[in-house]
Amino acid sequence: MTLQSYLTAFDHNRDVSGMKYIYPVVSRRARGVSIGVNLNINNACNWRCIYCQVPNLTRGTPPPIELEILEQELSVFLGNVLHGDFMERYVAEGNRQLKDIAFSGNGEPTSAKEFPQVVLLVEKVLRNFNLLDSSLHSPIKIRLITNGSLLDKPAILESVRHLAGCNGEVWFKLDAGTRDGIARTNDVNLNPQSHIQRLKKCAEACPTFIQTCMFALDGQPPQEIEILSYLALINQVKQVIQGVHLYGLARPSLQTEADRLSRLPAEWLEGIAQRIRHMGLIVHVSV
Ligand code: SF4
Repeated sequence: MTLQSYLTAFDHNRDVSGMKYIYPVVSRRARGVSIGVNLNINNACNWRCIYCQVPNLTRGTPPPIELEILEQELSVFLGNVLHGDFMERYVAEGNRQLKDIAFSGNGEPTSAKEFPQVVLLVEKVLRNFNLLDSSLHSPIKIRLITNGSLLDKPAILESVRHLAGCNGEVWFKLDAGTRDGIARTNDVNLNPQSHIQRLKKCAEACPTFIQTCMFALDGQPPQEIEILSYLALINQVKQVIQGVHLYGLARPSLQTEADRLSRLPAEWLEGIAQRIRHMGLIVHVSV
């Protein structure tokens, strides 16, 4: 490990562990450690969200995943977290608990050709550490953070279904309610109804939360017509999803639009959360 200081909720630098695919994140809010799996080591994503915090983001997919290296890194890192001195050396007291493994990297994880194999590999390593055996430990979650764009591919859906059997959970991106809003926010040409169909399939395969990032653009919050469309989309899936994670701008964008983006007031986000809660859904807000 090359960590120099305690990790904090704001230190999400994926180079910090000195490993190729694995990086640690300490979340003060979750009071624990998350192990991140970054498959997009070339900073390539099939979307280009204007709030994205990935440096030198490019369009594309990751290079072939070196499965042996990934397995070795995850095993070594887990060993150090569970049986070594990682927690004592790098994590403040009170946060020294392993919470989850998260597919959350510098691009869309499901765009890796080897994604189905990676899911099986992560499951195998976690089972080796008894981390998925609820009779021995409280099982940790395997979380897939995805933009959802490939969740209509049979192989990806099958992997997500497999994740459901390993205490898995999906966070599926929905930032806007109209084609224009999605184009403005995520820089993709996407039919909102197709996206909702993917979300439904995903939620039927594995417990799924919507994740939404909202911010002001050129000083203006999203227009009411945009919000109504967004709420109408959520209304279509409220029976199958677990809830909504609503985010403000936690960290500065690293895209060219960065100067045009600003945080919305906490009360504004809370107002949106209340409108979603009125549909009977759980909403977690992070400003
Ligand atoms: S989907 Fe995620 S990684 Fe891809 S551009 Fe958007 S925020 Fe960045």
